[in-house]
Amino acid sequence: MSSNSSLHIVIFPFMSKGHTIPMLHLTRLLLLRRGITITIVTTQANSPFIRQSLYDTQPPVNVIELAFPANIPQLPPGVESTDRLPSMSLFVPLANATKLMQPDFERVLKSLSASGGISFIISDGFFGWTQQSAEKFGIPRLVFSGMNNYTMTICGVLAGDRSHLRLGPDEPFTVPGFPWVNLTMNDFDPTFNDPELKGPHMEFIMEVATATSKSQGIVVNSFYELEPTYLDYWNREFVPKAWCVGPLCLAEPPKVDRDQKPEWIKWLDQKSAEGRSVLYVAFGSQAEISPEQLREMADGLEQSEVCFLWVVRSKVEGLEERVKERGLVVREWVDQVEILRHESVNGFMSHCGWNSAMESICASVPILAWPMMAEQPFNARMVAEELGVGLRIVASNGSVRGFVSSEIVEKMVRELMEGEEGKKARRKVKDIGKAARKAMEGGSSWRTLDQLIDETCRKKDP
Ligand code: UDP
Repeated sequence: MSSNSSLHIVIFPFMSKGHTIPMLHLTRLLLLRRGITITIVTTQANSPFIRQSLYDTQPPVNVIELAFPANIPQLPPGVESTDRLPSMSLFVPLANATKLMQPDFERVLKSLSASGGISFIISDGFFGWTQQSAEKFGIPRLVFSGMNNYTMTICGVLAGDRSHLRLGPDEPFTVPGFPWVNLTMNDFDPTFNDPELKGPHMEFIMEVATATSKSQGIVVNSFYELEPTYLDYWNREFVPKAWCVGPLCLAEPPKVDRDQKPEWIKWLDQKSAEGRSVLYVAFGSQAEISPEQLREMADGLEQSEVCFLWVVRSKVEGLEERVKERGLVVREWVDQVEILRHESVNGFMSHCGWNSAMESICASVPILAWPMMAEQPFNARMVAEELGVGLRIVASNGSVRGFVSSEIVEKMVRELMEGEEGKKARRKVKDIGKAARKAMEGGSSWRTLDQLIDETCRKKDP
């Protein structure tokens, strides 16, 4: 890279854990380059999580808090992030409310521009309105995407060719140009299957897609060697350019030995001492699972007879008493990366949020993919069918959105932890995990981040 002397980057993460955490990892990566100063913009309620996550960085990060708009009719007071929403159906009102922060955000840009300047902004794709602010001040804006190239490319292709809309919800079809990719309408969030492309959710998506297309590029939490076909296709056929700079979770420093280990890490240590493998079970920060489905999950885990650590916000009645020392249920916020890196953890039943999938791959832990919402069904197919680093849970009626019985949970958990398919996935995930580390340690992702900085700064000062 040429020289970073006195670069100032403004980072504005969206207020959901799955979007904030990787941007904090990106912050750490940028700070490893000499001469970069970073300002993170966030809201008051989200600021403590950010400050705590980055408490040890050198140089320290400047955090600026904006007031989250008050009195938004659908939103409960004080709720400023998706994980605190009473229902994810309030996602669009929350995301749209952020538009009211534009004047305050621009005041911040103005004052930072006056005191030394801003080299570029990296803001979340959901903040489409920040594109306008960036243009007003003549500052390049990069978009942070929570998705991988596989999903971005497939969605891009199918936005142009909507012939699949005449099929039934579970009827399989292949993606034009990618005959090996099998999908059904049920793999998409229902918003995308509306032939009229109407409604507040769709309007929001269109707005952010238009803003992204005007930006200087998309920062992607993935690495070239993981999905070269899709990244090359995207950069040939679509704009703006996608830059793979991940897996970002590898920027998370390892936990040093502490006096006060959380009880679940002590439990994992104990399993390790007993020579037992553990299945980690978690569905991210915002999944909504029906009580019936939760019960079936619990029964399946019980019947599988494997050891498991389940992080779940809802109460699961009686499970721990039934499985005794074989299972632990945790309802608190955990350090997921630390759990996945624990030597006893040998499988991850996951909703396949992209961060969780990347974190599992980096820890060489095979995945049992059970998607719940958003683009997770694509990630699940990518993990199982494209990369071979996991198995996919499919309901007995074959539908992506079908109800999954405890028998299926039991069977798939055993297959992942003890079966031949699980063994294959474990071998594959080790290889890909190694490639991921190589990409970050001076490899493709490291070089891409350098190029991204150089190219974006050149655009500002021609
Ligand atoms: N996470 C965590 N502890 C928890 C729950 C979640 O550290 O108790 C982290 C997880 O490691 C990941 C992020 O939160 O980095 C969730 O992102 P993901 O894309 O997997 O799922 P989402 O929450 O967006 O559905």
